Amino acid sequence: MAVPKRKTSPSRAGMRRSHLALRAEAHAECGNCGELKRPHHVCAHCGHYDNREVVASGKTAKGVVRV
Ligand SMILES: [Zn+2]
Repeated sequence: MAVPKRKTSPSRAGMRRSHLALRAEAHAECGNCGELKRPHHVCAHCGHYDNREVVASGKTAKGVVRV
């Protein structure tokens, strides 16, 4: 079995984890209802996209994440 020659130092582990931080998800206001939505996605609140209704309001589009 392959075994690491040396113990990973705290400094090295920190360097490796320097890319693991989570970033806040992008959001934008809906042009129709003002609710926060993901950019370039149908509004989960009112079903509008590009200032027109594309999903019947009241129903949540499948796969749309509320922000
Ligand atoms: Zn909306």
